[in-house]
Amino acid sequence: MTDDRPTVLTRGLRKTYPGGTEAVRGVDLTVHPGETFGFLGPNGAGKTTTIAMLCTLARPTAGRALVGGSDVTTDPGAVRRRIGLVFQETTVDPDLTAAENLRFHAELHALPRATARTATADMLALVGLTAQRDRLVRTFSGGMKRRLEIARGLLHSPRVLFLDEPTAGLDPRSRAQVWEHLHHVRTRHAVTLFLTTHYLDEAEHCDRIAVIDDGLIVTEGTPAALKAAIGADRVDLRTADDRTAAARLRDRFGLAAVPAAEGLRIHVPDGAAFVPALCAGLGVPLLSVTVTRPSLDDVFLRCTGRTLRAAGEASP
Ligand code: ADP
Repeated sequence: MTDDRPTVLTRGLRKTYPGGTEAVRGVDLTVHPGETFGFLGPNGAGKTTTIAMLCTLARPTAGRALVGGSDVTTDPGAVRRRIGLVFQETTVDPDLTAAENLRFHAELHALPRATARTATADMLALVGLTAQRDRLVRTFSGGMKRRLEIARGLLHSPRVLFLDEPTAGLDPRSRAQVWEHLHHVRTRHAVTLFLTTHYLDEAEHCDRIAVIDDGLIVTEGTPAALKAAIGADRVDLRTADDRTAAARLRDRFGLAAVPAAEGLRIHVPDGAAFVPALCAGLGVPLLSVTVTRPSLDDVFLRCTGRTLRAAGEASP
């Protein structure tokens, strides 16, 4: 029988640290089985604190959180059996081989020997480390260690794998590899992935994302729906005479242009369709036109009044 209860459900979840920092200020989340759910926000937004509560590593100040149907506060043991964790800091043992790290984890979870052997082989294959199974982890690159952590997080067949900034600190090639392996995980295993990121391009991999800022969810949906809700493309133009161009845009097209870093910026529902009309009707020489579809950064800007970049992070 399939279990279609939410894998993660929180209502009014709050965490105030001693000293008074309100890191999480009333978060409601519903994550469904098999979803890849992204938790997006700048540094300090409350992502790690939320994950820590869901993983029973931090106690909520108020509200409820259920993971795999079990309450993180009243039944933390059941929650721990159903989750896998991949944290920002490396927690695999550098003095053991890849296979030994997994065997140790299997023993912690009391997996039967035969199950552990099969799962170790399967998971090492899943993350592309079969050939390195007997190498000491201290000889691994950052990306290989992260992949081993993913293998370890999945070894005991959890319902949900929590990944806190799974690609933080990795070079672009290793980041791409980690994502390639996460995609394999998604297609081959019925596991829910719950990940935090401050990389906008990584949020695009998710089925659904929630944007958190200052301890509160500011918006939630599929990346496509969130971007579509912006409802407008951005058109940046450089002209031979910006002042006259701005007046013509207002008078002939009914558009309010705002000064951009170079030239003028306008918003229209369909930028590509607008460009020919603009070229024909502006009456001022155009030097360049750039049409930009809404990005998740535009979503963040709409919800918070600032870009994710300005909030302290740069998307690579
Ligand atoms: P994120 O993961 O989005 O970067 P965090 O959950 O780490 O955000 O932090 C949210 C807020 O809580 C920040 O203001 C941070 O300084 C504060 N914070 C995090 N951990 C602790 C702690 N152990 N004690 C006190 N304040 C903390």
